[in-house]
Amino acid sequence: MNHPLSIADAAALLQRGELVAFPTETVYGLGASALDANAVAKIYALKGRPATSPLIVHVASIDMAKTLAAEWPSAADALARAFWPGPLTLVVPKNVLPKKTFVPNIVTAGLATVGIRVPNHPVALQLIDAAGLPLAAPSANRFMQLSPTTAAHVRAAFGDELPVLDGGACRVGIESTVVQILDGQVTLLRPGGISRKQIEAALGQVVRSIDEVAAGASHPAPGMHARHYSPRTPLVLVHSPADLPAGLGAYIWHSQFSLLPGAHMPGDPSEYAARLYDVLHELDNEGWAWIAVELPPESPEWEAVRDRLKRAGSL
Ligand code: AMP
Ligand code: MG
Repeated sequence: MNHPLSIADAAALLQRGELVAFPTETVYGLGASALDANAVAKIYALKGRPATSPLIVHVASIDMAKTLAAEWPSAADALARAFWPGPLTLVVPKNVLPKKTFVPNIVTAGLATVGIRVPNHPVALQLIDAAGLPLAAPSANRFMQLSPTTAAHVRAAFGDELPVLDGGACRVGIESTVVQILDGQVTLLRPGGISRKQIEAALGQVVRSIDEVAAGASHPAPGMHARHYSPRTPLVLVHSPADLPAGLGAYIWHSQFSLLPGAHMPGDPSEYAARLYDVLHELDNEGWAWIAVELPPESPEWEAVRDRLKRAGSL
C-alpha cells in the first residue's frame, strides 16, 4: 500500500465484512466484525486456525461488553473496573438470540461463553468506535507461529494484501491474561499482561488455575494448545550456558553474562515481555540451528513469560 490506511478506511472495511490488522497494547490483532460469521470465517481461513480455538472479542467499554454477555457477574464487573482498558480478557456466559448483538458460534468455537476485553491502545479504541462494532481478533500471525508486536511482523506473515493499521510497537508485548467467570467460579485460563496477584488483589480471593481444574475435569479449556507462539527455529529452554545444544545457535539470556550471539534481555519481567517476541522474530530470521533461552525464575512475576516460553520451546 502506498499511503497509510486511515482509521475511517479501516472501519469501512470492517463494516463490509473484510479483515483489518490493528495494534493493541498486547500484540497486533487480526480483526473482523464479531457479529458477522462470514467475516470471522475469513480470520480462521487466513490464519489456518482450527475451529476449536475461540477468538477474543474487543470492545470499547464495559457497557459494550455487557451487550455481548448473557449475564455480567459481579466478579467480572470488579475486574473490568480494575483493569479495563488493559490486557485482561474476561470469559463470561454469551448472549443468546434474538439479540441484535448476538455473537455467532464461530467466534466462540461453539462455546456458551465469550471472551471479551477492552484494549488499552488509542488506535484500537478509535477503530472500534469508528466501526461501531465489537471486533473479534486473534493475534495477527499464522496458527502456532510467533505473535506480532509490530506492523512489520504482520506484513512479514501476511504480505501487503492485508490492510494493517500501524500503531507502533506493542507496549505489553505478550497476550492478555484470560480469566473465566462462570457458575460463581473464577478460573485463570491463561497468564498474561495482568498478573495473578493483581487479579487476586482486585477480587479479594485466591484464583484457581485451569491446570488445577483440568486435573479433575474430563477436558481442559478449549484453545489451550500446548504448542503455540513458536519461532520456526527450534527453541530450547536452558538453565545455564552449560546446557546449550551443539552447533551454531543464538542465546537469549538475562542473568548470566554471555558473549554468545543472541540477545541480552531486561531483568524486569514486564520489560522482558515487551521485548521477547521482537527478539524471537529477529533471531528466527537469522538462520541459526537453534535458539536457546535462559529460563526465568519460577517466581510469580515471571508466570506469563515462562508460560509463553514453555509453549514456544522444549526443555
Ligand atoms: P489468541 O487469540 O491467540 O490470543 O487466543 C485467545 C485465547 O483466549 C484462546 O486461546 C482461549 O484460550 C481464550 N478464549 C477466548 N474465548 C474463550 C472462551 N469463550 N472460552 C475459553 N477460552 C477463551
Ligand atoms: Mg495467538
